[in-house]
Parts: sequence; C-alpha cells; structure tokens
Amino acid sequence: MRETMKAAVLHRIGEALRVESVPVPQPGPGEVLIKITACGVCHSDLHAIDGDWSSLPSLPLIPGHEITGHVVAQGAGVSEPAIGAAVGLPWMYSACGTCEFCLGGMETICSKRESTGYSRPGGYAEYMVAPAAFVANIPDGADLYELAPILCAGVTTYRGLKRSGARPGQWVAVLGIGGLGHVAVQYAVAMGLRVAAVDVSVDKLELARSYGAECLIDARSNPVETLRERIPGGVHAALVTAVANAAFEQSVGMLRPGGTAVFIGLPGGSADTVRASISAIAGWELSITGSNIGTRLDLNEAVAFAAAGKVRAQIVREPLEQINDIFERMRQGNLVGRTVLEIA
Ligand code: NAD
Ligand code: ZN
Ligand code: ZN
Repeated sequence: MRETMKAAVLHRIGEALRVESVPVPQPGPGEVLIKITACGVCHSDLHAIDGDWSSLPSLPLIPGHEITGHVVAQGAGVSEPAIGAAVGLPWMYSACGTCEFCLGGMETICSKRESTGYSRPGGYAEYMVAPAAFVANIPDGADLYELAPILCAGVTTYRGLKRSGARPGQWVAVLGIGGLGHVAVQYAVAMGLRVAAVDVSVDKLELARSYGAECLIDARSNPVETLRERIPGGVHAALVTAVANAAFEQSVGMLRPGGTAVFIGLPGGSADTVRASISAIAGWELSITGSNIGTRLDLNEAVAFAAAGKVRAQIVREPLEQINDIFERMRQGNLVGRTVLEIA
C-alpha cells in the first residue's frame, strides 16, 4: 500500500485549492479504505470553499462528496463491503444511529451526523476512509464516472421529489437545471410527473427538454406569471435547486392550492432568507418543506433508478488539477450537467 496520495486541499476559506501530496488514511475499526475512481463537483463544495454557510468546514479540508471507487482495505470488524467491491460515498458520512431521528428513518437530520468533504475528508483525493455502514453498494458493470453524481445530485433530488408528495400525472416545477436539476427532471419523468423546467440559461432548458420537460420557463423574465399562464392553476410541487434567492420566493408563487415547495438549494449568507405571503400560505394551504440529501434507503433507491437506465447524469470528465478552473466556471453558471473529476 502506498503511503502518500494526491489530493486537492483547502487551507483557508476563500483560497484556491492546492493539489498536493498527503498521507493515505488508514481505516480504523468499522471503516473501509476506498480507492477513488471519480468524484462529482457539487455546488456545495463551492459553498464550502467560499465559507457561505454559518457552520464552516474543518480545515485543512479535502472537499468532494459524489464519490465512487472500490474497497481496498477493511478496518477491524468489517466484513462488508468486501475488498474489491464497487461502492459510493455520499455527503452523509455518518449519523449516530440511536437518536429519535435515526430510529425514525430520518437520519438526514441527526444532530450528530458528519459530512463527507466538509467535517470529514472527502473525495478530491486518491483514497479516503468511510464507515462501512454508510457506504453504498454500486451494481456490477455500472459506469463509475456517470454514477458519481447520483451520490449527491441524484439522491438529494430523488428524496426532494418524494417529500413533495407529488403523484404521477401531476405537475412539478424544477427551478435550477444545474447538476442537481438536470437529474431531478429525469427522476420526475421516471416517476410519472409532468415537468416545468425553470433556469436562466437556454442551454440548460434545452437539456431539460431532452429529458421530457414539457414546459420551459426562462427565469430572467416574469417566471411566475409565465408559468401560471402555461399551466393554469399552477404546479402541484416545486423543487428549488437554484442558488439564487429569488427562485425560492418564485417557487411559492408557482404553486396551485394545496401545493408544496421543496427547498434544496443553499445560497447561504445574506441570500439565506425568504419573504413569503402568510395569507397565501394559510388561505391556499401551501406547504414549504426542506430536503437534506437522503437516507441510506433513499440512496439505494436513487442508485437503482440510475442502474436501471432511467436516470443518467450528463457528465464532463476533467482531471483533479482543473478543480479551481471548474469552480470558476461553476460561479459563472457555465457548467452544463455535472463535471466529474477523473481520479483514477
Ligand atoms: P449548479 O451550479 O450546478 O446549478 C445551479 C443552477 O441554478 C444553474 O443551472 C443555474 O443556471 C441555475 N440558476 C441560477 N439562477 C437561477 C434563477 N434565478 N432561477 C432558476 N435557476 C437559476 O449547482 P448544484 O450542484 O445543482 O447545487 C445547487 C444547490 O443545491 C447548491 O446551493 C447546493 O449547495 C445545494 N445542495 C443542497 C443539497 C441538500 O441536501 N439540500 C444537496 C446538494 C446540493
Ligand atoms: Zn452535493
Ligand atoms: Zn442520530
């Protein structure tokens, strides 16, 4: 086993990542060592680096939480996943397993949870360790580059759609057709929902159309009015994956009576607050709910959709050394689909 590995490391909030040589971590009891194949670049990694959220990441930080690879070593007491197994690592690094939320199937809100590539070292590296109990199995033969975005963009939007309560035949608006949104459209279509796609980029709206979105809305001019003209009464559900604050307020305006807006994007900072009409929410019995990544069960289900060919991330593969440039393009909104780092 090698003693050092290549990793992209954040030393100070707001600085560029440095690609450097660091020690290969060793798996402790209950942990496995993963040799990483691919890691998607999620906008949450950019928020981490920019320090956008009130709780800051642990420094120095190896970001990255859309990880696929293979088990190469097991710590004490581990028999599964087996050495050589293809696995995926999501944002949820671990949860306590004993609190009321973990016991209730809501480990996504466990107060003791740890986050891959935020509170724990992540996947912008050749190796990482993870608790064996939180590692997802990847079916044999899956393309580990294409599957990487399912580990965050996939599971997060899959759970968000479930939490929206939308049923087959109903309309869902997806606001933000980026890394998350472009797979959200596919999950929604696979679930039998009708999709209105909302973004500020025509290319991204065209991508949504190619997946079956029936209504395309340019967010730059009166998206709420346009949507309500095109879908009389409004949508049953709205999933907000945009990073722009305005999209959250607009999503509530797009709902039909009884509808649900699911907040997923996390703009942070001064963009973290929304204004909404109390009388509209009360009078039309609207719901606003949050959705935070997904449980291990959500992840297994989200992976199954991808393995069955019903959802397929559009990816661009790039080397780890490009990471700061990729972040710059993400800031400008110039990435279509998901960029995935080729680690191996
Ligand atoms: P991304 O940069 O790939 O996509 C963002 C998209 O929003 C882009 O397509 C952009 O064009 C679009 N957009 C910008 N302004 C808009 C507007 N006014 N209206 C509609 N669309 C607009 O980012 P991503 O990786 O998809 O992540 C999106 C957000 O979701 C980030 O804030 C990220 O941190 C968050 N996230 C949350 C969770 C969770 O569990 N809640 C999980 C993963 C990511
Ligand atoms: Zn993510
Ligand atoms: Zn817990």
